Amino acid sequence: MNISCTLLDWYKENKRMLPWRETTDAYTIWVSEIILQQTRVAQGMAYFYRFTQAFPTVQHLAQATETEVLRLWQGLGYYSRARNMHKTAQIVAEQFGGVFPSDYPTLLSLPGIGAYTAAAIASFASHAPYAVVDGNVYRVLARIFGIDTPIDSTTGKKLFNQLAQEQLDQTAPATYNQAMMDFGAIQCTPQSPSCEDCPFAEQCIAYRTHQTDILPIKSKKTAQRKRFFWYLDIWNDHYTYLQQRTQKDIWQGLYEPMLIEEPLSELELLQHPTVAALKGDIVHISPTYKHVLSHQIIEARFVKIHLTQENDLLQAMQKISDTELSKYPVSRLIERYRATQAPAL
Ligand code: SF4
Repeated sequence: MNISCTLLDWYKENKRMLPWRETTDAYTIWVSEIILQQTRVAQGMAYFYRFTQAFPTVQHLAQATETEVLRLWQGLGYYSRARNMHKTAQIVAEQFGGVFPSDYPTLLSLPGIGAYTAAAIASFASHAPYAVVDGNVYRVLARIFGIDTPIDSTTGKKLFNQLAQEQLDQTAPATYNQAMMDFGAIQCTPQSPSCEDCPFAEQCIAYRTHQTDILPIKSKKTAQRKRFFWYLDIWNDHYTYLQQRTQKDIWQGLYEPMLIEEPLSELELLQHPTVAALKGDIVHISPTYKHVLSHQIIEARFVKIHLTQENDLLQAMQKISDTELSKYPVSRLIERYRATQAPAL
């Protein structure tokens, strides 16, 4: 069975009008694809416009500072993707004369560009016959063909990649890939797929055998690590203190207040040597903010401390006035906390 004709017919009726679909410019397509790996179209649109306005060409992105790039990315998560975009832009500017490549093997050699993104750019920008394979595609193929091989197993990945490539319409790879993406996002959704009015209803094995809530199958459950953060939100009149996260960990390159990462009670925190040595006035202790990442659950609390004089403990930190604060990229967790503070952190 080949699904491409039915899929392309469905697409004619259901196509989403998206700004990055109106172009064959590889740079613009690349920006949209990386943003869309982070978020849904509705939220991604605003980021796409902000990003391409700030960096209309790959040279503009290459010349930006990492902090500027992270600041625009703020709120999307997976900050390594933004750092990789910056690195890729610099490579393209230096080694490719500022012309963003659109051939599959070259794309795959660039930081942060995997098989999915390379296939999307190569097919959309130069109509090269590469099928995109992501979670949407796994789901659609597993359901229509009734495949119960786990999608995260080596055998499963090979099988689904091969099947996706076989299904690809070689004469219209860009349209086929866009159709597949839209079909997975609109019709064959993870929960409650619209099977009743689906053009594949008669062939779809998952639907016919009542397995739409079972397929696709994943074998591994990812363990989630629990972490406990106490942030010391220190203020000295109109100045606060931030440090940049430089270690290989979440939020690398972003800024944050002084951090004590220990599972302490409120009393233990107040007796902590760092808090005692700061000799400040505790103004407020926040409730717990739960922040869920793909492999970690963070429970964070913020202690607002007012200082009246400088302190040696703050020497390694950057002193920032409240008017400059918005220039420093921070995690969504800190953004959420700031939203509860008036007027600013
Ligand atoms: S019938 Fe249902 S499960 Fe099958 S492809 Fe259509 S929407 Fe997906």
